[in-house]
Amino acid sequence: MEDKQKINQSTSGLDLSVLEGFHLMAKPAGPACNLGCDYCFYREKKKFFSKDQTFRMSDEILEAYTREYIKSQPGNTVVFEWQGGEPTLAGLDFFQRALIFQKKYNAGKQINNSLQTNGTLIDAEWCAFLKKNNFLVGLSLDGPEAVHNVYRKDKKGHPTFSKVFNALKMMQEHGVEVNVLATVNRESCKYPLEIYRFFREADVQFIQFIPIVERDADTEAQQLGIPLAGPTSITHLETSLAVTPWSVEPNQYGEFLISIYNEWIAHDVGDVFVMNFEWTLGVWAGARPGMCHVSRRCGQNLIMEHNGDIYSCDHFMYPAFRLGNIMEGSLAEMVYSQKQIAFGTVKETALPVDCRCCDVLFACRGGCPKHRFAVTPDGEPGLNYLCPGLKDFFHHVQPTMEQMLALISQGNPVKKIMEMTS
Ligand code: SF4
Ligand code: SF4
Repeated sequence: MEDKQKINQSTSGLDLSVLEGFHLMAKPAGPACNLGCDYCFYREKKKFFSKDQTFRMSDEILEAYTREYIKSQPGNTVVFEWQGGEPTLAGLDFFQRALIFQKKYNAGKQINNSLQTNGTLIDAEWCAFLKKNNFLVGLSLDGPEAVHNVYRKDKKGHPTFSKVFNALKMMQEHGVEVNVLATVNRESCKYPLEIYRFFREADVQFIQFIPIVERDADTEAQQLGIPLAGPTSITHLETSLAVTPWSVEPNQYGEFLISIYNEWIAHDVGDVFVMNFEWTLGVWAGARPGMCHVSRRCGQNLIMEHNGDIYSCDHFMYPAFRLGNIMEGSLAEMVYSQKQIAFGTVKETALPVDCRCCDVLFACRGGCPKHRFAVTPDGEPGLNYLCPGLKDFFHHVQPTMEQMLALISQGNPVKKIMEMTS
């Protein structure tokens, strides 16, 4: 195992250990967005703010966030992640001011920025800015036109593919580093190879697949006045088990990943980086997980809303998971508070017996608590809704994961796996 830990955990040669310290993602425009995608889980969070909100982060909050976040990070590199809603609604000048504050407070540390966007407001000026300042961009693009347009629409219901695809091409021409974020939903899961080949042909090198799983409103959601179910309780039986019509089904999710994995392992290892596979290889190597879903515990990926409010996680932005405000208290005290520690540890301590006895627990870790509303065959709560699909995927990749690790530890190029499996 010691040898395994020395191996780089990714076929890209990148170190994917992201969880040093903690991450505090910021939302400069809060839940505001210029689109109206059917499956969005964040738009409803507007309900938690007063009606007269402008949903723009003030310079006062931005400065406090920059100062406190840099101060709180133990390493020499600090990563600022900007997300939404749609963060570009805050305007280019907001991000220019963010860089000024970063320069003021960096204390000699390396500062990196990443921006997650729907791409529809990206123009040449944005591209020049993103390139000049080395932003890593996560672009939400679900696949080819017919797939993308099913759920990703503007507020009038018009399709958005052309604008987003243009943004991708423009950013590529400017040399901006782009990572495509593609959801796996009830519709897109039917077209794994079409989607993967479309990205490959569009010269996308980094792809992340994100399962869409939302439940219909439960009593708690009705009390909060939001249309999707409230936070999952992984220790109690949930009352709302029905998922929305756009949620991917467990087996479909597994089949989707397996189809793409088969194509990737045959043709693209070392050229295309599907982050789901890179992270899997990482955990197989015994390295620190590159993704919170497959970590033992949660709690290290917090969010800060436009008004400075800090929450346990992007997927738990509910009043009960508010930890405080950046203007009010020490960031470290909020992150290492009993409340946040309890939020983080329950992922592991509440694993049902089925997970504890599962042969792929080391790779799966029960998945994201947001998805843990299913019940085991013995009636125990807290099982991941996606479990059958996750299990199929991990079992399917096991032999080739082990072969890739053997190649790496023998000093051979991981790309050799393509010859071995042909
Ligand atoms: S595959 Fe299923 S049983 Fe195994 S750890 Fe993951 S969620 Fe639990
Ligand atoms: S709740 Fe899910 S998204 Fe949030 S930190 Fe845990 S695994 Fe990650």
